[in-house]
Amino acid sequence: MNTKVDFLIVGQGLAGTFLAFQLMQKGKKVIVIDKGLKYSSSRVAAGVINPIVLRRFTITWRAKEFLHYNPSFYDKLDGYLGKQYHFNLPLKKLISSKDEIDFWEHRYHKDDVSDFIHRDLSDVNANIQPAENFKVGLVKQASWLNISDLLFDFRERLKAQSAILEEEFSFIELNENLYKDIEFDSIVFCEGARGKYNPLFKDLPFSLNKGQLITIENDQLPTDSLLKKKVFILPITKNQFKIGATYSWKWDTSSEESAHEIEVDKTEQLKNQLEEITTAKYKVVSVETGIRPSIKDRRPLIGRHPEKKNVYMFNGMGTRGCFMAPLLVEEFINYIENGTDLDAEVDINRFSH
Ligand SMILES: Cc1cc2nc3c(=O)[nH]c(=O)nc-3n(C[C@H](O)[C@H](O)[C@H](O)COP(=O)(O)OP(=O)(O)OC[C@H]3O[C@@H](n4cnc5c(N)ncnc54)[C@H](O)[C@@H]3O)c2cc1C
Repeated sequence: MNTKVDFLIVGQGLAGTFLAFQLMQKGKKVIVIDKGLKYSSSRVAAGVINPIVLRRFTITWRAKEFLHYNPSFYDKLDGYLGKQYHFNLPLKKLISSKDEIDFWEHRYHKDDVSDFIHRDLSDVNANIQPAENFKVGLVKQASWLNISDLLFDFRERLKAQSAILEEEFSFIELNENLYKDIEFDSIVFCEGARGKYNPLFKDLPFSLNKGQLITIENDQLPTDSLLKKKVFILPITKNQFKIGATYSWKWDTSSEESAHEIEVDKTEQLKNQLEEITTAKYKVVSVETGIRPSIKDRRPLIGRHPEKKNVYMFNGMGTRGCFMAPLLVEEFINYIENGTDLDAEVDINRFSH
């Protein structure tokens, strides 16, 4: 006998997880299909949430709306899973030159940047064992999402509810309202970087981007804030820190395994950039890579298939999935359920003419 659901979701990265959660909260019946790709972007992601582009000190796209929406969403998710995954985390930008100090002051007075950074710079904490004589600029409203634990625990809930198929999605088995023995009203593809090869949504301008992180062990670095210069030092446990992240636009695409190979030169780059911050001794305990689902115009890719009215895509979270996805999921559900318009900047239709 067929199982009947409202939504079939392909992918349980951050996008598919948030979508499944919000739909279930609204009383919808959902089944998720996820192969558990080891190197999916969400499994590797650091989980930093930061409203500012730190190179230019500009405010990111729709930052105020996302900041307004996120706390209630993440509280709800924490409540559902019975554990805290989202934490406020002061972000400290390390500044070393007179030019950088002047630029900080200059940007403070531009647009609404003063809502997001403190004007006064402070001295760096000696525990960091700074490699230079840094000043510290504080970014307001930054936070950290423990995304790997969140995805793991949410998956366990889905398993307990028999709401996940841990397998590769097969397009051959897909008929109008039927996938194998699952009858569905709508299907949503949340495949991350794999979306580039989705045969139903061809020619979308994915501009995939490979990222690498290292995890180090150290007993002295501060665990109460995130430090950022060229790389960030993100505390994830009492003595472990993620250092990242790199950006590559070219890699061996001959197979999925080769695409995810560790880039030795990038590991060295991360270590060198870490040593530009601190002289503290450390041990590298792991190296991870993932492919970010970025789009050419740096905006998400969300919407309905041009002909198949029950087929959707929710993708293109790029470098800021943890920041953007909660509100975009809510807007996407309103679009499907209530016929409200999508933000024109995320709508896949922007590429149809
Ligand atoms: C090194 C690195 C660091 C990052 N740091 C941050 C950060 O600090 N903050 C931030 O906000 N973002 C960060 N990101 C970006 C973030 O990871 C992405 O924005 C986000 O995770 C994308 O989520 P997604 O669900 O769209 O895709 P994915 O995470 O790729 O999820 C797709 C899922 O679909 C499944 N899947 C795909 N195709 C199939 C199929 N055919 N059958 C079955 N299952 C399938 C996969 O198994 C996977 O679980 C980082 C990314 C990288 C690579």
